[in-house]
Amino acid sequence: MTAIGTLRNTTKDTLREVLTRLQTEGAALGHFNVADHVLLKAVIAAASETKLPVFVGASEGEREFFGAHQLAALVKSLRQELDVPVFLNADHTHSLAKAVEAANAGFDSVGIDFSALPFNENVARTKEAVQAIKAVNPAILAEGEIGNIGTGSEIHETAGGDFKLSTPEEARQFVEATGIDILAPAVGNMHGMLKSMVQGKAKKHLNIERISEIKQAAGTFMTLHGGSGTDDEHFRKAIAAGINIIHINTELRVAWRESLGESLARDADDVVPYKILRPVVDSVKKVVSSRLRLFHGQPVSSDAVGSVA
Ligand SMILES: [Zn+2]
Repeated sequence: MTAIGTLRNTTKDTLREVLTRLQTEGAALGHFNVADHVLLKAVIAAASETKLPVFVGASEGEREFFGAHQLAALVKSLRQELDVPVFLNADHTHSLAKAVEAANAGFDSVGIDFSALPFNENVARTKEAVQAIKAVNPAILAEGEIGNIGTGSEIHETAGGDFKLSTPEEARQFVEATGIDILAPAVGNMHGMLKSMVQGKAKKHLNIERISEIKQAAGTFMTLHGGSGTDDEHFRKAIAAGINIIHINTELRVAWRESLGESLARDADDVVPYKILRPVVDSVKKVVSSRLRLFHGQPVSSDAVGSVA
């Protein structure tokens, strides 16, 4: 076995096989971002608890903090002990060099993101990156992004920006011209959460009809970014309309911060990291498990997602 190539799961399923299977089952693969080992432990524990496959994601910032090769090595090690598939995605990759680095590290997919550029430039840069990563590993899946859904999985005061919906025609053109395997469109989704969403007073709503139209036009796997704070029923409808992967990041970050604060406040004299961090892993795991169950059509209680009611 070479150092380069897909990190095989013990289940031996490839990402493409799992996405195809979930699509026929009417389910979506949950994508959860990690910036450190605490978050990774939480995502893996949720996969183990629910017996459902997971997609671990790390953006450029998260990869820089974690180490792209170090994260790939940890995921490879963890998946050998699991009987459910775990895949690794290089989320929001903004340069050819970072895309190739992730492919070399053994990531199962690269989210190529030149969506901030004009359409034609986005096409050209994405196509170039698709060819480069597939030259490193032909089995790797390439994701491309169109439209603007804001930046930063953070808490925002207001939605801001002009989040125009992607059109079926630009989706079709983009997929044909770039050779991507997975399309990330703008369909009413948004990165981050508004304060009102964190407080459970508001939910994101998706344009389900547009998802169906884009799916028909593009004919590829589709991923939904910025899923945090979305109405449960909209998630179910979006999956039925053709969404194959759903990204949840901010909900994990909110649970992480709240539980870390509580854990630190519990005993000012406690300096044992694994005692302080264990409840944090549990809190984030609860959010991940709840989202996974929802994405696989299983019942979830309304208060299951941490403080995000
Ligand atoms: Zn995203």
